[in-house]
Amino acid sequence: MTPGSQAAVLVTGGAGYIGAHTAKALAERGYRPVVYDDLSAGFREAVRWGPLVRGDIRDEAALRAAMSEHGVAAVVHFAGLIEVARSVSDPGPFWDVNVSGTRALLAAMQAAGVPRLVFSSTAAVYGQAGRAAGDLISEDDEKAPSSPYGDTKLAAERMIAAHCRAHGLTAVALRYFNASGADPSGVIGEAHEPETHLIPLALAAGLGDGRPLTLFGDDFDTADGTCLRDYVHVNDLAAAHVAAVGAELAGGTFEAMNLGAGRGHSVREVVAAAARALGRPVPHAIGPRRAGDPPSLVADPSRARSRLGWEPARSDLDTIVRDALRWEAQPAYAAGGRASRRGEAK
Ligand code: UDP
Repeated sequence: MTPGSQAAVLVTGGAGYIGAHTAKALAERGYRPVVYDDLSAGFREAVRWGPLVRGDIRDEAALRAAMSEHGVAAVVHFAGLIEVARSVSDPGPFWDVNVSGTRALLAAMQAAGVPRLVFSSTAAVYGQAGRAAGDLISEDDEKAPSSPYGDTKLAAERMIAAHCRAHGLTAVALRYFNASGADPSGVIGEAHEPETHLIPLALAAGLGDGRPLTLFGDDFDTADGTCLRDYVHVNDLAAAHVAAVGAELAGGTFEAMNLGAGRGHSVREVVAAAARALGRPVPHAIGPRRAGDPPSLVADPSRARSRLGWEPARSDLDTIVRDALRWEAQPAYAAGGRASRRGEAK
């Protein structure tokens, strides 16, 4: 399936953060994105590049109907639950939506004869053992998720891989490190309820639109004592999905690929970048560590480079933070989280 073909691509979870950026990128490369989303966490306003089919990811019949009605040639699958802390306190829905949902999707694809899947996966599938700060993680490293969220994404990957072997499906699982930034157009961006991510919270604190930022620990075994993460621009992630949809891969292939910039930044470096973008300090204090936070998560992205020809173009930290600020200062739509960040009752 080639760019410019106007081929229909079903984007499950396409009203969410990375899904909406990917729908835009697909449309720009001449595909027809059809968003499938129940709007439980996504936004109607983020669906702008093709039709919206409102439905549950566990609803196999509705998925099959959407695929045949729109003549879908490939699926990009984002729909799922993503909050790590919630997966610890209430794991059941994560197995239901992330694993049973993927099962329903695979069954619908098989029934409809859709041959290609790109799956939204995560660095949370990796374990933490034996890695020093800044060490790069490669796809073959040990898988030992530290949360039910990571468990469910790894289980879904394995189910997809088995499906490829058994039924000739071709699939790519893209393991994101820290998705961040926003499309420079200002029409789509990051909006989570609740917002838990560092960059939006740092910018909200600096804008006076949130509580002072708490740095979760400064006693890690890293250069400045705060955690290292690999921040990758959401538009670079979107471009990798488009490349994976069109990649030449033999039938029955399953490939997992890391998506990161290949460079770690500390929490303190992110706070400094936010202050630079804002032109004013970000009020912050040091708090305790957050349960389950590994000291360092940095990608070796060489497989995506060689297999997909992927090159991150906007993933230097200052560009990410500037793009995130443009959105954060004037979001086109917002989660209730903005109110909760200001400390108001929802
Ligand atoms: N972090 C922080 N304060 C916050 C939110 C996050 O210090 O209010 C830290 C967190 O401990 C981690 C980094 O920022 O080291 C990135 O966290 P985020 O939640 O954005 O992404 P994650 O790495 O958990 O996927």
